[in-house]
Amino acid sequence: MCGIVAAAAKRNIAPVLIEGLKKLEYRGYDSAGLAVIDNGSIERVRSVGRVAELEAYSANTISHTGIAHTRWATHGVPSERNAHPHVSGSIAVVHNGIIENYEALRRELINQGYIFTSDTDTESIAHLIESIQKTEPDLFKAVSKACQRLIGAYAIAVIDHTQPGKVVVAREGSPLLLGVTDTGNYAASDASALLQVTRNMVYLENGDVAELTAGQFHIQDAQGQTVDRPVHFSELSADAVELGSYSHYMQKEIFEQPEAIANTLEIIGGSKTIQPGIFGAEAAKLLADVDHVLILACGTSAHSGLTARYWLEAVAGIPCTVEIASEYRHRTSVPNAHQLVVAISQSGETADTLAALRHAKSLGQDKTLAICNVPESAIVRECALRFITRAGPEIGVASTKAFTTQLAALFLLTLVLAKVKARLNAVQEHHYIEELRHLPIAINRVLALENDIKSWAKRFAGKHHALFLGRGRHYPIALEGALKLKEIS
Ligand code: GLU
Repeated sequence: MCGIVAAAAKRNIAPVLIEGLKKLEYRGYDSAGLAVIDNGSIERVRSVGRVAELEAYSANTISHTGIAHTRWATHGVPSERNAHPHVSGSIAVVHNGIIENYEALRRELINQGYIFTSDTDTESIAHLIESIQKTEPDLFKAVSKACQRLIGAYAIAVIDHTQPGKVVVAREGSPLLLGVTDTGNYAASDASALLQVTRNMVYLENGDVAELTAGQFHIQDAQGQTVDRPVHFSELSADAVELGSYSHYMQKEIFEQPEAIANTLEIIGGSKTIQPGIFGAEAAKLLADVDHVLILACGTSAHSGLTARYWLEAVAGIPCTVEIASEYRHRTSVPNAHQLVVAISQSGETADTLAALRHAKSLGQDKTLAICNVPESAIVRECALRFITRAGPEIGVASTKAFTTQLAALFLLTLVLAKVKARLNAVQEHHYIEELRHLPIAINRVLALENDIKSWAKRFAGKHHALFLGRGRHYPIALEGALKLKEIS
């Protein structure tokens, strides 16, 4: 799933689209494209090159309405004809995600006479909206109706040159937010793309469809009701998404760990004791009769959960199970209403973890805790308790500081549960808190080894196999190390 930027504004939006895509480049992509409404027609540029190439093509474009995309191909090879936007009649569409029923839609639309020019699932969305417009020309209504037929995860943005000045967006399962200003309204898959125009962000919920014009926006929820979603002031710092003096984002984020951990631990301040309230106002009450912990997570977050299992059982004396979120929701499990369900996700939007959390709740387990790095995210909103790690934006593909701040959060959870279960005396509590406070200094000592590590890496670089060994709590750390090497190589 890659990037979307969309704009309807009084100003020329072409540079905003390009700048937005540049801010999303860090996510990786294989092709990019944009479409704007220019003199009553759609102007589209697509490229398998970098966003900078689009910039050159669109340098002379002046438009007030447009959509742009960086693609990470899931259906059809990376190529210009598969790059977004996809056009059908007067409309153009960009899409993040996967449409699971695209083959059925494609057959249906081919029978109606539509000619497909790409191999993507996305092109079905474009033709579907166009076919609905034959009886429902209004773009907003046509997109709403089309969404009812889509199965899968998506964030989309659509323009129609017969209805200039308007962008319609919708989301289900993939992130999408609005940036709202007096002189224009914008949408993007990530807040960092919109900081250039505003910090006032509106987070769309699953099932939402929104219409943006330069002067206003309105949102309809999954039930077709017009809704007001709160405007959040984004605290994301523009510097946080800049590379600065580092050679790549992963290096930057490795070196940000001491600060990220210190920020995450700020919640306990200078205190010698730890209170359940750090997990939310209801925590003391909710944790009182917890007899088991079920951690739901994927990938790196599951490894942090597996590490925490050693602590939760040894320090807090509470049995703990860690389940890969995608497996949990596809098996019949035995629910336990006294179980604390902990959903861990950096973004708070991990589709499998969110679905697993909902599945756990549907089984009557409503003692839920989110450990996430994004306060406004879906997982945080849907849990009774929350702990926000303060890692800052994590841009590198392989997680580093998000992982270590999750571990800090999970250790705090261990201490709180141990305290609730009367397994921690004041001396032990003070000792553990001091150890936590020492972490940033300890991590800095490890980071000081960078030059040694670089020279070892030179020796390892030519090897074909690597084996990570670990026992006890180092076993999940070995798994995480192996995952890192696989992701990065
Ligand atoms: N499934 C779409 C495609 O392959 C969108 C991929 C994306 O999220 O970038 O074109």
